[in-house]
Amino acid sequence: MWGLHQNGLFSVKSMYRAILGVEAIPYNTLIWKLKLPLKIKVFLWYLYKRVVLTKDNLARRQWQEDRKCCFCSSDESIQHLFFNCHFARFVWRTVHISFNLIPPTSVHNLFTSWLHGINKKLKSKILVGASAICWAIWLTWSDIIFDKAAAPSYLQVIFRGGLLDQVLVSITEGGGSPNDEDRM
Ligand SMILES: [Zn+2]
Repeated sequence: MWGLHQNGLFSVKSMYRAILGVEAIPYNTLIWKLKLPLKIKVFLWYLYKRVVLTKDNLARRQWQEDRKCCFCSSDESIQHLFFNCHFARFVWRTVHISFNLIPPTSVHNLFTSWLHGINKKLKSKILVGASAICWAIWLTWSDIIFDKAAAPSYLQVIFRGGLLDQVLVSITEGGGSPNDEDRM
């Protein structure tokens, strides 16, 4: 139904656009209130809805290619790519060590109970930082899938688009607004 081609690449892009175009987006959730560029909010919404096109979701749409994760030999899924993969775990662990913040365990956890008990303002800032991490992982995934880039080092992801800076600004008190389109 999505007109997939054998090589998968161009049509994956088309399919993603098609999905982004057809589904209505509600505006009453936490995600939409975060100080982030719209494109990242849209990405987060699809992450939350579990329709981001990781290879397990592609396979459900008759995608015939390899289902292996870009970073390791496990099968790729949202849970794996953003939380369980050694690649994601390293990035989250860096945040854990830097800010003494236990990483989220899943997308659901991230946007529901992860920051339970933390005041609303700080929670919102931390979520911006965590969202930046998910976005950086996704950009790196995209580079590998669409541009055939070599798998990057952990540090490339952490520093990607000023990610660490973004997280620092988001989490430490007294930081400026993390709403900076250019850095993303
Ligand atoms: Zn992996």
